[in-house]
Formats: sequence, C-alpha cells, structure tokens
Amino acid sequence: MQVTIDRHSGFCAGVTGAIRRAENELQQTGQLYCLGDIVHNGQEVKRLEQLGLETIDYDDLRTIRHARVLLRAHGEPPSTYWIAAQNGNTIIDGTCPVVKRLQERIAACYNTHKHDNPAAQIVIFGKRGHAEVIGLQGQTNNTAIVLERPEEAEQLDYTRPIYLFSQTTKSVEEFNKLVEIIEARKTRLRDHDITTSRPDESAPFEYYDTICRSVANRVELLKQFAREQDIVLFVGGAKSSNAAVLFNHCKEANELCYFLTGPGDLTDELTAACRQTDHVGICGATSTPLWLMEQVRDAIRPLR
Ligand code: SF4
Repeated sequence: MQVTIDRHSGFCAGVTGAIRRAENELQQTGQLYCLGDIVHNGQEVKRLEQLGLETIDYDDLRTIRHARVLLRAHGEPPSTYWIAAQNGNTIIDGTCPVVKRLQERIAACYNTHKHDNPAAQIVIFGKRGHAEVIGLQGQTNNTAIVLERPEEAEQLDYTRPIYLFSQTTKSVEEFNKLVEIIEARKTRLRDHDITTSRPDESAPFEYYDTICRSVANRVELLKQFAREQDIVLFVGGAKSSNAAVLFNHCKEANELCYFLTGPGDLTDELTAACRQTDHVGICGATSTPLWLMEQVRDAIRPLR
C-alpha cells in the first residue's frame, strides 16, 4: 500500500499567517484572545488553546478590557476595531492580506458611490453570515447585497448601478455564471427600454473577480489527485464550508472518497479497505493542518 498526502492540501497562506501571528504572541506572553475560531478545524484550535489561546465571541469582546485580541484571516468589519479600541484592547491583526485588499476595494467603491442617484448597489457574491462576508459588508455600512447563488441575481434592481465583488473562496465558475445572468438581464431590459423609452441602459454594471486563486486552483489539482488514487481519505473540520465544498469535488472525481475529521473517525472496515489497496490518497481543505493528515496516514499504515 502506497500512501500519499496531497501536497496542495492544507492551510492557505492567509491561515498560516494568522496562526504564525498567534504562535509568536503566545511564545512571548502565553496568553492571547482570538475572536472566533482561528481556523475551522477543532484539532488545530485545541492545539493552540493548549499554548494559551482563548477563543472569544462578540459578547466577550464587549466586556474584556486592556487585552490582546487576534483577528483571524477572514477579517472583521470596522465596528470590531472600534469596539476593541473603546475598551482599550490591542488588536493583533491576522487578516489575510488578500482579504484586506478586498475590504479596501469595497470600502473605496462604497465611498465613491454612496451618494449616487439612482442609488448604487454593491453586491457581494458570498455566503450570508460567513465571517469574511460580514467583514466585507461592514465596509459598506452594511448596505451591500449578498447573493449566495447566481439564481438570486433576480432580486437586483437593474435600473440602478451594480458593482459586483466576490468572497475570496467562492467558485470562479459560479461567479462567471452570475455575471452572465446579470448581463443577460441588463440586455433584456435595454431591448425592452428601447420600446418604452426608459433611460435604464445608462445604469452601469462593473464586476471584479476577487476570488483567491490559492483556493480556486485547488479544485482541479485536488480532483486530479483523487482520480489517481484507489481510495481517498479527505480530512477536514465538520464546521468548515470550504471542506464541504472540496470534499464534494473530490467525491465527484473518485467515488471511494471518505470524509474524516481525524484518525478517530477511521472505522475498522475503512482501515482494512485501505490496507487492501495499492494507492491511498490523503488530502484536505484549506483549514486542514498537515500534522492531522500525517496522523491519518500513520493510523492506516499496517502495524509491523
Ligand atoms: S483563501 Fe486566499 S484570501 Fe482567503 S485566507 Fe486563504 S489566502 Fe487569504
């Protein structure tokens, strides 16, 4: 049995950066708060908690005073910085630089167009309630419209300007589909307007593909990896939406693909099946630590 860990799986640069910030802080002070789970992986959170990291929520942020608080890679809305400053807390900003740039672009777009008439619509293609999306909406004073699926484009007002951005982890394919739907809808409206003489064709539509390629490129690489294996063990956090999406892609490429949160999820049957095949592949999400994939690898290797 040959066991291979996919070299493209594991933490993206943004998450690695936030974890490094946490480790450096903890080395110096042994205590650090983190607003929300630093990564959607229970085991990695536990490892950092053993070093002194304490995960807090927004209610805690309002009550703690003069503490050091890490912001994770997803980023935060401006209100979080404001609340922290009010209470004398020091922010350790682990926001991924790619997310930070996106926040700045959306803030600039909002400030440029907030007094437009007819009112502009800033649209974020993303998951409602996701931490990154909350941070992006915050750049627009929470006026941005969030669309989760291309089909939801129907709810936009096509007589008003549209400025479209994307959450960094959305699918490029779906984003392109959304752009197509909006363009088709605008064309339909324009053709209709010629007969009704309404000036709707003047409303601009601008879109910015702000999807992070460190994740987007993974899908094809992951599928290719999955196709080359007899059995695939996909390791990911139960709460991670990225893990759920990548697992589905993997399963499409190889139906003998199994989701595990760690070696503890390996059943005797699955371990036996792995040991009876030639090629077992281990891969994971952007939130899966390498050490966890290594633990799964060690657990399925036959005892000597
Ligand atoms: S997926 Fe990309 S944008 Fe998002 S945290 Fe990772 S590196 Fe940053």
